[in-house]
Amino acid sequence: MRVFKFGGASVRSAGAVKNVGEVLRTQSEGPLLVVISAMGKITNKLEELVEAYYHTKETKKQLFEEVRFFHQEITNELQIDEYDYYEVDNLLIELECIIEKKRDESSSYDTEYDRIVPFGELLSTKIVSTYLNKIGYKNRWIDARNFVITTNKNRAANVLWDESVPLIKGSLEPLIEKQTILTQGFIGRGLNHKNTTLGREGSDYTAAIFAYALDAESVTIWKDVDGVMNADPRRFENAVLIPKLSYNEAIELAYYGASVLHPKTIQPLKNKAIPLYVKSFLDPSKPGTVILENASRTLNETQCYIVKDNQSLITIASKDFSFIVEDNLEIIFNAFNTAGVQLNLMQNSAISFMACFTADEIKSSQLEELLSDKFNVDLEKGHTLLTVFNYNNGNNELKSIVNSRVIALEQKSSSALQLLLRD
Ligand code: ASP
Repeated sequence: MRVFKFGGASVRSAGAVKNVGEVLRTQSEGPLLVVISAMGKITNKLEELVEAYYHTKETKKQLFEEVRFFHQEITNELQIDEYDYYEVDNLLIELECIIEKKRDESSSYDTEYDRIVPFGELLSTKIVSTYLNKIGYKNRWIDARNFVITTNKNRAANVLWDESVPLIKGSLEPLIEKQTILTQGFIGRGLNHKNTTLGREGSDYTAAIFAYALDAESVTIWKDVDGVMNADPRRFENAVLIPKLSYNEAIELAYYGASVLHPKTIQPLKNKAIPLYVKSFLDPSKPGTVILENASRTLNETQCYIVKDNQSLITIASKDFSFIVEDNLEIIFNAFNTAGVQLNLMQNSAISFMACFTADEIKSSQLEELLSDKFNVDLEKGHTLLTVFNYNNGNNELKSIVNSRVIALEQKSSSALQLLLRD
């Protein structure tokens, strides 16, 4: 069996959903499980909705209406009839009921996030599954939350393999022989039976979880680019395709933030030597990229650029001028862990520690609260993190990107150069 994953861009409109139907019709052979994300940028919209709901802002109604309208428009265009539409409508009603009620004061932001944001994936998969059945591509919708069992940590749950694998294998293996299975990426269920999510862009990881449990032949991630490129082609004119990568190279690229892959995706595939294809849903005949164990180290010769926007720089200095060594570092890292902040670059000097992470108001204020007793904490938004792999192989692009921008942090390893640039 094989696993296909379609991201938000591949289902962002009725036309895009029709194209998914076409890719499935022409590219799927044999047993298949399909993982699908929320449509277009709906996860961002739902994040805004959580924010408005949590802080009881008036805008929540308007945001909900935008979510409803977006999905209704697509179902109308796909000519999904009333009878089939009721399941989509039920989800919208359920979401509306949640946001109209007064929030439980004891519930945390992250719990509310995981209650609301998964509606994006649920709506998307209901619509796509219904459409595919309508055009004769028979498939069965399943709820990923019954199979991907996780820790209770909201927004960054860890998969419990011992619980999830037997469930997936036991229930889905017999089903998949009969028809294609279609499910949601990104979402799971904690041991407390509440929704969890796997972190933004987590649908790739979901595909890897199902592939691992079902001993898949391969996983294909369908993207709006030709495969894994050495830079984002929307930003770099001269971006080129990397035809082959080893698992380790892919893990390294994902670690530094190459948005083409979710960082946790590779490990389960590597453990079972399952090849991962990254291909274009716009032109499936193109070869794309394959990631496997014995791929030659193509990256040795290719300079890669990874850009992360919207970074906050935090500077933490001890108030008593004590050195930033083991004891202080323990306090600092505990605070990052408690606030759920993932660091993208860090550096320390005698009495200060500097790091950057993707800007987040709530996490930032939690960090300040946790650290301000013992440290002076300074937070500065508006930075971009640039990582260059194999930076020694000529640096023409690098000069033009940095231009006259201020470099706030700089770090070099034998293969990667990282620069935090002030916007
Ligand atoms: N919909 C989620 C997100 O936008 C998960 C995913 O697309 O992988 O982050």
